[in-house]
Amino acid sequence: MIVMKFGGSSVANAERIRHVASIIQAYKEERPVVVLSAMGDTTDHLLDAADMAVNGTVDIAKVEKLHFDTAKELEIDVPAIKELLEELKFLLTGISMLHELTKRTRDYLVSFGERMSVRMMAAYLEKQGTSAKFYDAWDIGMVSDSNYMSAELLDEVWDNIPKALGDYKNGKQKEIPIVTGFIAKDKNGIITTLGRGGSDLSATMIGAAMKADEIQTWKDVDGILTTDPRIVKEARPVPEVTYEEAQELAMFGAQVLHPRSMIPCRKTGTPVRVKNSYNIKSAGSVIVEKHSGETPRVTAITSVKNVSLIDIQSNNMFGACGFLAHVFNQFLKWNVSVDVIATSEVSVSLTVNGKTKLEGLVEDLKRGADVTVKSNKAIVTLICDASHSSSILEDAFKALHEADINVQMISQGASKVNISMLVDESQANDVVQILHKALFK
Ligand code: ASP
Ligand code: MG
Repeated sequence: MIVMKFGGSSVANAERIRHVASIIQAYKEERPVVVLSAMGDTTDHLLDAADMAVNGTVDIAKVEKLHFDTAKELEIDVPAIKELLEELKFLLTGISMLHELTKRTRDYLVSFGERMSVRMMAAYLEKQGTSAKFYDAWDIGMVSDSNYMSAELLDEVWDNIPKALGDYKNGKQKEIPIVTGFIAKDKNGIITTLGRGGSDLSATMIGAAMKADEIQTWKDVDGILTTDPRIVKEARPVPEVTYEEAQELAMFGAQVLHPRSMIPCRKTGTPVRVKNSYNIKSAGSVIVEKHSGETPRVTAITSVKNVSLIDIQSNNMFGACGFLAHVFNQFLKWNVSVDVIATSEVSVSLTVNGKTKLEGLVEDLKRGADVTVKSNKAIVTLICDASHSSSILEDAFKALHEADINVQMISQGASKVNISMLVDESQANDVVQILHKALFK
């Protein structure tokens, strides 16, 4: 048994749905459970519709047109989608009357995207003569906490899913399950979502709980690449990465998989394969517990832009303990997440997402420290075997020095698979190109 996950762009229109259906049919013998995202940009369009409704306008024309046009082109009649669109309109009307939108309502609202896409795909597969059955996440026991917009799945999911899909696994059920990604229900039966991009987590959760042979996530590129091909055209596929490396890749900007999605499959050791829907024959990249051969010196290079650097220098606690505690307590208080850190006894430099509002935090930090904030920075991360850090850094810094580029901060993660460098945002692409050339010979 395998799990096959297709993201929004893979099911963006009738043509893409036909293509995905043909891929599913090609893997029929492997008994796939299929996990889908909402079609194309539907999630964004639903969020836009919600904002408009708060301001008094009910308009789902875009979402409605996409789904109706697609059904028409696929020559399927999907009354279940019509019903959902009616319900969605009621909901938006309610929001427009209340002029209020809670996180809980927002989750209910975006859930329509995934619920419509699984109905569309199941109907189309049936029409093509492949038995398929759609499931909303809660039909297979996806229970979460009530942390709306970023819910965590509960442990009982591990038992619920095999119970719900057991007959498919043992061959009694013939219909291929087509399951919504991204959504769940809490203990009270209220719809929740697992956070943007959460369908990856749905897929790995199902694969791990079902003890699948493999979890496949289908993209539009040849698996995981050595770096962003828009920055470096020589970027090439990486055949194998570890769960840990994949998680770091995702955290540091690679559009690979949702970082949280590695959690369930790491527990069971279920391999995750990233495949290219435009190049089915290519093996793609596989994510596993340990490298099968020697760990490569450098696996990939990623970059994250729009980063701010905060430099904090203690002015009254020289040598005293408690300085770092003071600093991090303020970050906790203001709920600001820190990405990369470098410290000495009396100073600490750290980076945060450039969109973060920092006024209150900085004011609090200034009680006891001198604080400077510099924006328009970028983090370039080497996903690598840090046990070779000296030789990697030798090559990296030699190349950067020749190009007259100064690194403003450097940090080696505790996981020993990443080395991050802070540079000016305007130089980030150059840095990635230079490092790619120097490290992938
Ligand atoms: N449709 C959701 C999103 O766009 C979930 C996903 O695609 O994974 O974030
Ligand atoms: Mg999406």
